[in-house]
Amino acid sequence: MMKVAVNEPDLCGNEKKYLDECVDTGWISSEGPFVERFEREMALVCGRKHGIAVSNGSAALDAALLSLSLPEGSEVIMPAFTIISCASAILRAGCVPVLVDCGNRTWNMDTDQIESKITSKTRAIMAVHIYGLPTDMRPVAQIAQRYGLKVIEDAAEAIGQTCYERSCGSWGDISCFSFYPNKHVTTGEGGMILCDDDELADRCRSMRNLCFIPERRFVHYELGYNFRMSNLQAALGVAQLEKLDETVKKKRHIGAKYQRLFSGLAGLELPLHKTEYAENIYWVFGLVLGDEISIDAREFTKRLGPLGVGTRPFFWPMHEQPVLLDRGLFGGERYPAAERIARRGFYIPSGVALTDEQMEYVACQVASVLEVS
Ligand SMILES: *Cc1c(COP(=O)(O)O)cnc(C)c1O
Repeated sequence: MMKVAVNEPDLCGNEKKYLDECVDTGWISSEGPFVERFEREMALVCGRKHGIAVSNGSAALDAALLSLSLPEGSEVIMPAFTIISCASAILRAGCVPVLVDCGNRTWNMDTDQIESKITSKTRAIMAVHIYGLPTDMRPVAQIAQRYGLKVIEDAAEAIGQTCYERSCGSWGDISCFSFYPNKHVTTGEGGMILCDDDELADRCRSMRNLCFIPERRFVHYELGYNFRMSNLQAALGVAQLEKLDETVKKKRHIGAKYQRLFSGLAGLELPLHKTEYAENIYWVFGLVLGDEISIDAREFTKRLGPLGVGTRPFFWPMHEQPVLLDRGLFGGERYPAAERIARRGFYIPSGVALTDEQMEYVACQVASVLEVS
């Protein structure tokens, strides 16, 4: 039996060389030269003025929200189908998350539903690119402009992706990334904020570094965090970024091959290969079980495990999160598309190190479970 992990990173470029450089020079903290280099190069990739490296993607969202200094109680519109980090960043900044359902096929925030959620308290829209297909950013930008809202972009799953041929990570007033090992660029743990505004960038830098002030060390006017990225992490990031084009090509190859392998199978809904604004980059390859399949994703993946196929469930919608319901949020709200894919969806091994042989094995095993379901 073959064993295929849900993700394996590829560290075969200059990662080791640059890490050696850190150890040889003794630069291991956030003061080392790779940090600024990584920030500069990420900003360049996305055509932004500023890059602020942080300790992880969730911290990037936290710092981004705080840097906007939205008034207490401001409403921030966000997708129901995403990771908890998005909602927690909004809440920790003293704001209120307001949800929008996802599209049935795109799995991304349905931008047609945004306007109906705008109230006099709305101050921002958080757009999150999901699973390798971007949110349709043109309507998001138009609505934001019409109502004077800030746009926060979570591009963690869309490093190297574009929307209308413009880089993901260039659409937000402030844009966030994660470099967790399953992301297209990894630093083990890590994150980045990109923006063009000098003041926002300064606020983020301050938030990441305990709000030290240059004039008087250890005297503070605001409470910040230690969200700093180390030189070791940034060294990995610089090496990873050198291979981004190759990584994107590889991910698209994985996506296209899985599409072919699964094309004849009934009962499976596959990711959209493209939309009018983007071609899928397949951050992960998701599958959604059709209504005719008698078991749900939980049971399906439980059967795949013993066959050596690693899987992950889809995100669980925000309006069904116990921790958020406990805070009195989203009571009685329904988001049917998010509810459906959360119950019927999971993703299969999609890491950049995946081989054709492994994909063929995975497809075979999925087909075999499907046959008896
Ligand atoms: C991975 C991810 C995050 C969180 O990043 P961490 O580095 O794990 O904190 C945030 N948003 C999205 C969309 C992600 O995929």
